[in-house]
Amino acid sequence: MALAACGGGREAPKAQSDLDGVRGFLKNAFAGSGEQSYAGGGLCGDPALVGEVIGDVPGEGACGIENAVSLRMVSGVALSQPAVINCTTARQLKTWVDRSAKPATKKLGKLAGLKVAASYACRTRNHQAGARISEHGKGNAIDISAFILQDGTELTVLTDWGGGKRGKALKKMHAEACGTFGTVLGPGSDGFHRDHIHLDVARHGNGPYCRPR
Ligand SMILES: [Zn+2]
Repeated sequence: MALAACGGGREAPKAQSDLDGVRGFLKNAFAGSGEQSYAGGGLCGDPALVGEVIGDVPGEGACGIENAVSLRMVSGVALSQPAVINCTTARQLKTWVDRSAKPATKKLGKLAGLKVAASYACRTRNHQAGARISEHGKGNAIDISAFILQDGTELTVLTDWGGGKRGKALKKMHAEACGTFGTVLGPGSDGFHRDHIHLDVARHGNGPYCRPR
C-alpha cells in the first residue's frame, strides 16, 4: 500500500522490491516524519521510549494492564507495529536493545527495526485451553520474530536461528535477554516458539526461566 501511494516516481527495479518493503515498514513504524515520531518520546519518563500513553486497559479476569503504553520506537529502533505493554516491559526492552540487540547485530549492520509478532493479548499460555493466563494478557510480554538492519537485511527467527552469522547473533540476543527479562523463550524451548523470541518480565521464585539454555 505504501508503494502504491508513491505516485510519480520511476518504478523501482524488481530486485529492489523486498528492500523497499522493509523501508516502507520502517517508514510506517515511524508513523510519518522522523521529527514527528520523536514527539512521542518520554514515554514512561524515558526520552528514548517513543509512543503514546494509553492508560489502564481493562481486561476480563486476570487480563488487563495498568498504565499501558503503545510503544513505537526504542532507542531509535522502530517497532513494526505498536507494542501495547506496561512501562516495566518497555524499560526492560530498552535495556536489552541497548546492551544486547544493538551490539550483537553491529557486525552485520545498524539495527533499525524489530518485527513485533505480539504484545498485549488476553489469552492463555500458548493459546492452550485451560492453561494459565499468559503474561501477554497482563502487558508483561512481547514477541519478536525478526530484527531488521538499516540496509534492509532481516534476521528472522524462523529461518536464521542457529546458523551462520545471523543465527549466532539471534542466539546471542536470546541468551543475553535472560535476567533483563524473567522469561525468555525461543526455538527449541517447546513447539510454540519456532518463529519468535518471547520476552516477559514475570519474576519466578528461583530466578529467570530461559529456554533453550
Ligand atoms: Zn510470547
